[in-house]
Amino acid sequence: MAKELRCRDLGIHCDHVVRAETEEELLDNAVEHVLTVHGIDLTREDLLEQLRAVIHTVRAF
Ligand SMILES: [Zn+2]
Repeated sequence: MAKELRCRDLGIHCDHVVRAETEEELLDNAVEHVLTVHGIDLTREDLLEQLRAVIHTVRAF
């Protein structure tokens, strides 16, 4: 089972999808994408909380 997080689910107009095998890796990748690409003005902790809320589990890559 893989984890998936769609940037769009954060309410951002972006088609970027992050996939990883573990939640930790997924969150790391997603935080980096959101902070570097979108420059969102949130602390890492607040951002992580929002990201955790929109994680999906998918069957396979
Ligand atoms: Zn994005």
